[in-house]
Amino acid sequence: MAEAEETIFCKIIRREIFADILYQDDLVTAFRDIRPKAPIHILIVTNLLIPTVNDVTAASEAAVGRFFTVAAKIAKQEGIDENGYRLIINCNHHGGQEVYHLHMHLLGGRPLGPLVS
Ligand code: C5P
Repeated sequence: MAEAEETIFCKIIRREIFADILYQDDLVTAFRDIRPKAPIHILIVTNLLIPTVNDVTAASEAAVGRFFTVAAKIAKQEGIDENGYRLIINCNHHGGQEVYHLHMHLLGGRPLGPLVS
């Protein structure tokens, strides 16, 4: 993987720009999406800059696995675990990826409807 360009999420992780951070550990950071698409919309991002799912290797498996334990923990905290929620990772142009820094969306708080419109 060529050296990736610094992203806005790098600055959020280092707390150089504001985000409503709910959780941070050695591998991932979770914060509320600035343009929520549902009553609960949280992003879980890798602390190390991995641009897309295509760049995931065995070395990133711990961070990617952490996405799910943190999603489940936050879903419970936010009170949406029982009704349910959706986890999404967009990859590249056709996937609708805007920020090239691996992240998982956690969406919930209302029925989300069919997956693809
Ligand atoms: O998966 P995708 O790359 O499209 O998602 C990027 C997400 O990052 C968007 O939902 C956008 O609202 C969010 N974002 C944010 N804070 C920023 C920049 C983008 O929450 N400062």
